[in-house]
Amino acid sequence: MSKEQYVCLVCGYNMVGFHPETCPFCGAGQERFITADECSARYRVAATPVNEKVTRLNS
Ligand SMILES: [Zn+2]
Repeated sequence: MSKEQYVCLVCGYNMVGFHPETCPFCGAGQERFITADECSARYRVAATPVNEKVTRLNS
């Protein structure tokens, strides 16, 4: 069974298995969340800056 994942469009926060009323990171409302499937279909590029940032921090 796969858990639902929601992604905040404002800050990119990824919520797995729950759907809070507001983003715990930036406080955006529920209407700003999309499912991870929608996110990868529509906003695939959005994940790239995060990965680059993580790589930069790790190196
Ligand atoms: Zn957010």
